[in-house]
Amino acid sequence: MFRAAPRARFAALVLLAFAALVPAAAAGAEEQADVRLGADVVPTFQSIRLKLDADQRNYSGAIHTDLRVAKATNIIRLHAEDQDFQRVSLRQGADTIHVSVGRGDHGLVTLTADRPLATGAASLEIDFTRAYGTRAVGLYRVYTGGHGYLFTQFEADDAREAFPCWDEPGFKFPYQFTLEVPAAHEAITNTPVESQSEKDGWKTVRFVKTPPLPSYLLALATGPLEFTPIPGLRFPARVVTVQGQKGLTGYTVETTPKLLAGLERWFGTPYPFAKLDLVAVPEFAYGAMENPGLITYRDAALLLDPASATVNQRRSSVSTNCHELAHMWFGDLVTMQWWDDLWLNESFADWMSAKITDEVYPEFKYGLDDLAGIQRTMSGDALPSTTAIRAKASSSAAGLQNVGLVYNKGNAVLSTFEGYLGPEVFQKGVRAYLKAHAWGNATAADLWAALDRASGQNVSAAMATFTDQPGVPLVRVTPAEGGVRLTQSRCTPWGVEQPDLTWRIPMVLRWSDGRQIRTTRVLLAETSQLVKLPAKPEWVMPNGGGHGYFAWSAPGAMIEKLASHAPRDLSAPERVSFLGNLDLLLEAGEVHGDSYLAALARFGGDPEPEVVSNVVSSLAGVRRAFIPDSLKASFAPYVRQVLQPALARFGTERRPGEDEAISTMRGQLLTMLARAGEDGKVEAFALDAAKRYLADSSSVDPGIVDAVLDLAAARGDGAMFTELQHRYESSTVPLLRRRYLATLGAFEDPALEARALDYILSDAVPVTEGMMIMRGFGGKDEAAGARLFQWMTANYDRLASRLPPPALRFLPMMGSGCSQERLAATQAFFSEPAHAIPGVEKTLERVADMVHGCISLRDREGAAVGGYLRSLGAK
Ligand SMILES: [Zn+2]
Repeated sequence: MFRAAPRARFAALVLLAFAALVPAAAAGAEEQADVRLGADVVPTFQSIRLKLDADQRNYSGAIHTDLRVAKATNIIRLHAEDQDFQRVSLRQGADTIHVSVGRGDHGLVTLTADRPLATGAASLEIDFTRAYGTRAVGLYRVYTGGHGYLFTQFEADDAREAFPCWDEPGFKFPYQFTLEVPAAHEAITNTPVESQSEKDGWKTVRFVKTPPLPSYLLALATGPLEFTPIPGLRFPARVVTVQGQKGLTGYTVETTPKLLAGLERWFGTPYPFAKLDLVAVPEFAYGAMENPGLITYRDAALLLDPASATVNQRRSSVSTNCHELAHMWFGDLVTMQWWDDLWLNESFADWMSAKITDEVYPEFKYGLDDLAGIQRTMSGDALPSTTAIRAKASSSAAGLQNVGLVYNKGNAVLSTFEGYLGPEVFQKGVRAYLKAHAWGNATAADLWAALDRASGQNVSAAMATFTDQPGVPLVRVTPAEGGVRLTQSRCTPWGVEQPDLTWRIPMVLRWSDGRQIRTTRVLLAETSQLVKLPAKPEWVMPNGGGHGYFAWSAPGAMIEKLASHAPRDLSAPERVSFLGNLDLLLEAGEVHGDSYLAALARFGGDPEPEVVSNVVSSLAGVRRAFIPDSLKASFAPYVRQVLQPALARFGTERRPGEDEAISTMRGQLLTMLARAGEDGKVEAFALDAAKRYLADSSSVDPGIVDAVLDLAAARGDGAMFTELQHRYESSTVPLLRRRYLATLGAFEDPALEARALDYILSDAVPVTEGMMIMRGFGGKDEAAGARLFQWMTANYDRLASRLPPPALRFLPMMGSGCSQERLAATQAFFSEPAHAIPGVEKTLERVADMVHGCISLRDREGAAVGGYLRSLGAK
């Protein structure tokens, strides 16, 4: 699955909830353990026949499962949630054996046979009926443009909602679908059509038997779907859309073959499945889902309007698509044995996506953006509420716990080790792992073993220190006789006690001897270790290459020296990582607020847009944590001083032939200068650009439209609000619809803000899209966050009944920010039984950590920040 990465620094401090409609935190360890199905009776093949009319509310179906009885027993366990069984027939040889049906929690079905089954073959048939889902999980119905459609989302454990099945990833075997649909509808599943017939207005489509698959990867779609072929591949491939959206498929048609070619080169084996459909789904709970042969995407990820798409949107479309395509090998061809390795499944896909997107579309600089996301993850991983990414998952849902951390940290750990072992060795290990486990299941330990063999080193032991224990290492670098001394401890927010831990950290030191820059590789395995260097270092960059998953600290003079050398001597990833590290040091109390602001100021003039983007995000963090109304007038000149060099370099609008990455950052730059920098010229430009855009959308660079509309909305009136609402309702371009909604959330006039919130629950807005209005609150102040929280609690029941269940889990994140009061209100609200969300205790723990971190930072460094800013004004 794919979740969009939030763009904000100070991960521990900001309102992550606004960032995207993703399950920022999912079920916690306290979630009830799954009853495992066991291995006494296992399925070897299942045919699934469904009669599906997307214009009705209910459907019927039948399954036939071939079973292998490994041990004589009269108990068969499987999953089936909320289906009415019409017929259950268990057969062995010529005998039909009567069974009684018992129902347990979470769709568990226990069949008890009148007499024990003998070892050997048996078969089970169940006929059933059920209502379609309406909340974007299981087999669910979407009504759009006057037509009904059916789509599926099964990961982690919702295949059981659609039909009876063995809903654990370890059961990997072939399936065969037969779908009966109205003759005017299309029907697709994971495999190509085998045969098709029509009778009495119904079309019966039988699909080719699948290769071995787990239930969570099965998928189907029906309705009056439209198809756009993707030429240039060895196998049939299409983009699949609801009616009227074929015109938006061009970009995906153009980019998909290039990404697939890049992946085939890296894996060294061809795309493993017989066909590929990329389906743009209008209502979708996640970013995308890697069902083999039938990948589903939130429509906005796949459908781009060439006239209005921004560089950022193209980059995110390509990287999302690449993540899902990478899963065709890693996840689908080889599948995790159990949900405790979901972290590896997902972080590998993220890591691979960054690698191949950078290779095929270097102009997007996606890897650099991805690295910034990883840096933000470390702030959250340093908090007491963090958990190991390879936690024991007792239930399917527990595997999805804390996905933001899991994806990013896993990705970073893979990069750290690839950097240390070398890319060729790493690739050799992965290829051997895929070859050994093709069409089967495997664990993380199997991958480490393959890397051990490929490298001749003990990778497993070092990996385990990052995957099986929580937290971030902090490496202190101090000058010592003959080199430097490295000392590791656990990186912890200032004033917080946590158990100490030790890691085995692969490090690449880049350092200068005063004449040239040198590289020294170290595996820091001890608590303290002397590293001999052949010359006295002038400065040392402890995270050479920028990809190591650790924080580092050094004497102030060395940090200062490094910052002054950064533009000339550090690479762009190293500069991004330097800024991320600076945030960690501020939170850990290793750097004071005044030094932090001084160091940040050095990077505003950086030639690399992604570095400037990180500076802007850091300034947003400063604004949130430290700048009350009384300090705004002192903060503004500082912001202008830091960012005006970037504005002078990059300009307010796109220039012909400019670097693509500039466009992904320019909007942020304008927003920060206009809002926090109180830069009248920039604001006037933005208001004028918004006016021009509304008069003629082609007159403004797409890259800045979101920013200028938001700035205009902040001062906008009822007429502008109505105009945007009208545009939203009349547009069929998913990304434009989302843009207009987000802008509605940015209005600051209290009456219009209230109108925007009420619109979330209106019938004109699908609820998954409506959440974009909340995103529009992202640029507002603490008081607006409090109003949004108030609105959410007042409308909780209506929201909760309409939101996809995975999205519910992010609502408690609205308590984050810097307010003890709001935190207390959040804790009280979600502790009520009526507002119970699975795993909410763990989420509340994380929210509390973030709020305490923000308050502690404000108390500790507020005076230093205020003093520094006021002294600038005095100069
Ligand atoms: Zn994924």
